[in-house]
Amino acid sequence: MAKNSKNGFKPGFSDRYRIEDGSKFVLADQSTEPAIKFNNGDAKELLEEIVEEISELQNKLYADNKWALLLVFQAMDAAGKDSTIKNILTGVNPQGVDVFSFKAPSTLEQDHTYLWRTDLVAPERGKIGVFNRSYYEETLVVRVHPEILAKQHIDKSLITENIWQERFEDIRHREKHLRRNGTIVLKFFLNISRAEQKQRFLDRIDRPQKNWKFEKADIHERQFWNDYMHAYEETIRHTATEHAPWYVIPGDSKPFARLMVADAVHQALEKLDLKDPELHPGELDYLAQCRQILMNEND
Ligand code: ATP
Ligand code: MG
Repeated sequence: MAKNSKNGFKPGFSDRYRIEDGSKFVLADQSTEPAIKFNNGDAKELLEEIVEEISELQNKLYADNKWALLLVFQAMDAAGKDSTIKNILTGVNPQGVDVFSFKAPSTLEQDHTYLWRTDLVAPERGKIGVFNRSYYEETLVVRVHPEILAKQHIDKSLITENIWQERFEDIRHREKHLRRNGTIVLKFFLNISRAEQKQRFLDRIDRPQKNWKFEKADIHERQFWNDYMHAYEETIRHTATEHAPWYVIPGDSKPFARLMVADAVHQALEKLDLKDPELHPGELDYLAQCRQILMNEND
């Protein structure tokens, strides 16, 4: 069997969920169910293999110090953002990865443009940056709840009927800028069904280890499901580009979703064709001299 292949999965499987041209994107056409039903353990085993390769590639990314990778995660509550991030980055050198979660903006953050807080922590060369929620909240939760927009520190004259198109444009430009400067941007929407979300909430309520995660606000947001789906569709339509694609990943099975995200990350790193760093002859001479110094020590 080919490496990293099982039950019909092979490297690059996640390509089918990659959207580079959003113009015809219809969210209702996207499945929330896994395309492969894995036996117990198979998905986990595959994930471990891919994560190990990601880890090796990340070491090269770090040593090469030219490219950065930005992974943006957006989803409805309980879709599995946190656990997906954890599962994929466990085993990767923590020095090479930075994870940031974005909540409702603080007063200081609102005194800047909405891209400011994410710009501040965009990954540096050699690193993988993960955004657990992001500037995309500005075209999702803020669009679903216009009262949030009204409370932002923005003059009314700037809030026109074009505001969402303007934000899409801002974001497209920002992501193009990142790509042109060496940051690969991948965006993941973990797409769960409303029924699956209900099941996961019930599970959170019923299981003592999980019920700390439950918030009444989550049930409240659920009432806006269709508005959120519309906002996601619009967002993906206008911001899925060749240089910063969206992956709309079926989210109802966590093992499948994790595998798809890992595959996409793995593919992106492989495409960079990273080589182990090579030393110049002068640097090799220098190392030889250092070796000699150590060997000449008396103790
Ligand atoms: P979990 O619930 O799994 O711990 P979470 O990402 O849902 O993780 P919460 O603290 O529950 O974290 O929620 C963060 C909240 O902040 C979300 O409701 C999100 O919509 C909100 N938020 C994030 N960015 C913005 C923004 N720019 N404007 C308004 N609200 C935002
Ligand atoms: Mg939450």
